[in-house]
Amino acid sequence: LACGVPVAKILPGEGVLLEGGELIRARKIVSNADPKRTTSLVDGDVPQSFAERVTSWRTDSPVLKVNCALNRLPQFIADSPDVEPYRAMVTISTGIDATQEAFEKSRAGEPAPKWCELYFHTAYDNSVAPPGHHAMSVFAQYAPYKLAQGTWDSRREEIGDRVIAHIAQFAPDIEECIAYREVLGPPDIEAKIGSTGGHIFHGDCLPEQMWGRRFSSRTPVEGLYLCSAATHPGGSVIAVNGRNAAYAVIEDLNGVSLSGS
Ligand SMILES: Cc1cc2nc3c(=O)[nH]c(=O)nc-3n(C[C@H](O)[C@H](O)[C@H](O)COP(=O)(O)OP(=O)(O)OC[C@H]3O[C@@H](n4cnc5c(N)ncnc54)[C@H](O)[C@@H]3O)c2cc1C
Repeated sequence: LACGVPVAKILPGEGVLLEGGELIRARKIVSNADPKRTTSLVDGDVPQSFAERVTSWRTDSPVLKVNCALNRLPQFIADSPDVEPYRAMVTISTGIDATQEAFEKSRAGEPAPKWCELYFHTAYDNSVAPPGHHAMSVFAQYAPYKLAQGTWDSRREEIGDRVIAHIAQFAPDIEECIAYREVLGPPDIEAKIGSTGGHIFHGDCLPEQMWGRRFSSRTPVEGLYLCSAATHPGGSVIAVNGRNAAYAVIEDLNGVSLSGS
């Protein structure tokens, strides 16, 4: 087992070459890096039709994260004595039409973080913050990878302000509660976790990229398999992608069929 070691090259049928220069020999390679990143590492023959499919795979993420350290918990206007919102996922939205409009703006290159999910980790585990303090993580949509105006470096904080202003409609004291915040746009998520476009599911989960149109575990590159969120049945923390790839490897190594088991 070699963990935390970046792969520099995938050598089909031979193994992987680590950035440190070490060759790890393997007849079968299973990659959970997204298909664009995986293919870019292949030092060998990638059939053109597969390469074209990978290139046309849509990986522009609309997701923005705002991670906050809080001095105290905010007060929601919809709060009531018998509800503890902090232990739930709090969804901020002004309705389906506004959400659709935000999506369309983002597709045109303008950030419109009008739909947010809020998580308060400290409501479950207060050891993750100093006594009396709290943590809030915001998952916001929609913000484009490529902005029509400016860059993420020049606009990151302004876009973060928009997220907080939107939340303030439902929790007016939110700004006073924030001691520190970190804003991560799609390029930041890409840099942090290595998924192309910062796409949380390694590719849009829309009908044109789902079901039979998602990647399968097997690739036409010798000995190379995919187990990432870009494979069937799609993104999320579901483990089925890994199970499917493992079955494919076992079947190919042993010449058996495990389908239906
Ligand atoms: C901000 C965010 C919020 C999310 N929220 C949810 C949620 O609430 N619920 C849910 O179910 N899912 C959520 N997801 C999606 C879920 O996390 C992903 O679908 C899932 O983690 C994908 O798993 P994976 O193993 O396919 O890929 P990843 O977890 O992306 O793993 C790919 C790995 O490949 C590594 N890698 C890339 N290049 C190389 C290289 N050259 N050498 C070595 N390693 C390399 C990367 O470092 C990374 O660790 C979220 C994702 C994000 C980013």
